[in-house]
Amino acid sequence: MPQDFYDVLGVARDAGGAEIKKAFRRLARELHPDVNRHDPEAEEKFKQAAEAYEVLSDPERRRTYDAYGHEGLRTGGWQPHAADFGSFEEVLSAFFGRGDPLFGDLFGGGGRRGPATGGDVGASVEVSLAEVVTGAKREVSFDAIATCERCRGNGAEPGTPIRACETCGGSGQLREVARTAFGQVMRTAACEPCGGAGKVPETPCEECDGRGRTVAKRTFEVDVPAGIESGQRIRISGAGHAGDPGAGKGNLYVEVTVAPDERFERHGEHLVSVVRIPATRAMLGGEVPVETLDGERTVEVPAGAQPGERVVLEGQGLPTLRGGRRGDQHVVLDVVVPSALDDEQRELAERLDVTVSDEQLVAGDERDAGRRWGRRRRRARR
Ligand SMILES: [Zn+2]
Ligand SMILES: [Zn+2]
Repeated sequence: MPQDFYDVLGVARDAGGAEIKKAFRRLARELHPDVNRHDPEAEEKFKQAAEAYEVLSDPERRRTYDAYGHEGLRTGGWQPHAADFGSFEEVLSAFFGRGDPLFGDLFGGGGRRGPATGGDVGASVEVSLAEVVTGAKREVSFDAIATCERCRGNGAEPGTPIRACETCGGSGQLREVARTAFGQVMRTAACEPCGGAGKVPETPCEECDGRGRTVAKRTFEVDVPAGIESGQRIRISGAGHAGDPGAGKGNLYVEVTVAPDERFERHGEHLVSVVRIPATRAMLGGEVPVETLDGERTVEVPAGAQPGERVVLEGQGLPTLRGGRRGDQHVVLDVVVPSALDDEQRELAERLDVTVSDEQLVAGDERDAGRRWGRRRRRARR
């Protein structure tokens, strides 16, 4: 279901044209690739915003959308164009043109971007719930693009000359005019023969075949912090692919999975576990062994504990990423009625059974009141 265009831009349904333009510019700044290079959704959000702007900035399209919604636009033959563009830069130049101050703000005027930073690399690791308490170290290995050591990235055999690229005249870029829904747009594309470098080696480097890069196996030790949750990513700056000569490396993102532990259910920093106790122990109260992440512990079950009642073990839960005190472990009492009694047990149970009064069958919140009542009665009997 496509999102409401007014919601996407964050404007009221009666917003004027200037307001809509302002909202889109604000979003464009927010989602700009330099700011949001590592938010994988930024580009997608930006395209949604561009799509919303494309509709709401056109009075006729906006009327259709107000009356018939997304469905009305589609049956009217409208197709969003933002999705066809390759990059932020192209969408923005389509909407505002390269002369627009916003464009200058975001891309430094001429639209010529410097050497590109290297791409990001992803890896994944798994830790146990117990390691969430202590933190853990993991080694990750991956293939990454590295600068060729033989030619230091310029692609030429050491000692051989490099000349300017004939195709692009040394600029590294080719400009072409593209026709789009918004009129003609000047697109710049990297020159293919020189790969955007503007220079070509006369004798290509033997090691990298003139590419200036090689693929190398890289290994990193990753510190998984205590308190991590499944699905969270750790960023290691500069551990990704090598970029163009003169530009930085990309980042390594390590996605962490916390292996499920059937003994515990995680609720943020708290854990829930279940312990089975016989009904007689629940009646009498007493000590019960319970598994925790730090080993076995003994908990005190109160006399008259009811099925499903919880005993809280403070500080037996998990830390948070911010540090500080550990959460709690909630132990749920699963009160089980013993079956297949032998003769002696049966006799004891029968004797107990005839003495249990209705007043003793008060559960939950009323139990404390019931206990007081029971004490008073015992005292009265004495
Ligand atoms: Zn090389
Ligand atoms: Zn070229």
